Amino acid sequence: MTNGGLISDLKPSMFTMPDGRLLHLYGDYSGTPRWPAADGPHQKGFSHRRWHPVRREWVIYSAHRQTRTYKPTTDACPLCPEAPDGEIPVRDFSIAVFDNRFSSFQKDCPKPEPIPGVDVPIDSAAGNCEVIVYSADHKASMATLSQERRELLVRVWGDRVHALLQMPAVKVVMPFENRGEEAGVTLHHPHGQIYAFSYMPPVIETMAQGFRDGYDLTKLTSSAPHAVAQTGSMMAFVPPFARFPYEVWIAPKIFRSSPADLTANEVSDCARLLAIVAKKYDTFFGRTSPYMMIVYVAPRGMEDFFPFHIQFYPLLRAPQKLKYMAGCELGSGSFLVDVLPETAARSLRDVTVEDVR
Ligand SMILES: [Zn+2]
Repeated sequence: MTNGGLISDLKPSMFTMPDGRLLHLYGDYSGTPRWPAADGPHQKGFSHRRWHPVRREWVIYSAHRQTRTYKPTTDACPLCPEAPDGEIPVRDFSIAVFDNRFSSFQKDCPKPEPIPGVDVPIDSAAGNCEVIVYSADHKASMATLSQERRELLVRVWGDRVHALLQMPAVKVVMPFENRGEEAGVTLHHPHGQIYAFSYMPPVIETMAQGFRDGYDLTKLTSSAPHAVAQTGSMMAFVPPFARFPYEVWIAPKIFRSSPADLTANEVSDCARLLAIVAKKYDTFFGRTSPYMMIVYVAPRGMEDFFPFHIQFYPLLRAPQKLKYMAGCELGSGSFLVDVLPETAARSLRDVTVEDVR
């Protein structure tokens, strides 16, 4: 049940890089991409996954990624337009999506050979990893992109999710963004990533069970004590069971399984709330706030009950205090939170930011 109208008119321009990776340019761009001739064979290797028998989850091994280097001759950002040795050799662009140079999953990943001494199941790490660049402007962020650009971003998520779920090996697609050095980001150019998995990752498996058992996310979009920001068709809220201080979710008021299914109105409201949440964090914490943002989309075959929504995990609990994943959280899976979700919601609700149109 894909809303073909909103994504089918995107019509990205597609290019093949010298090493065989694909580049999609969405919206306006200027110039024709020209890469320098490939300087020798692309360093290629394959990942594999191994079954963790007691946590009962897959672990991905990408030994070839350890050798990754950006060419040391330049410290230019590889996501800026026409950067030397960059990924997007055009003069200007709106949104660019390309296959990650050092991908954890590979489209043509073979089944691994048995490995001596490894007695747990091993399997192929088929799938794909894409980078999605939000703007040609190195200094932009989710909080400062234009509303038009954020609307394009939401629609591009829908288009990529739809396209990647067409790959026979792919079961789950998850766009996400890590923002800030505290979130492990080394490139500050505004960008996110899109992972396409060939299996159900454990968190998504557990969430799918919750939704399959009937948990209705849309009821949270009318919970006044948890509201952070409202629009006509979507709401940003702190879930009453938040695991992080100031965790915020954005969800449509009517069930949708994918950003590809949103109406034009919902795309617009989603784009506004993305900016409002980012601005509220930056204002509340008094700085550009590090966060992880995850776009959850129904896995293949779960379109009837798994709701599209977005989760923000800020990595601060106070302006200068980082929230760490500590021993209890990592060791037991039990999160310890110092701020009640209702208190966090009120605090963020009370933060005024300029309206976004
Ligand atoms: Zn840049």
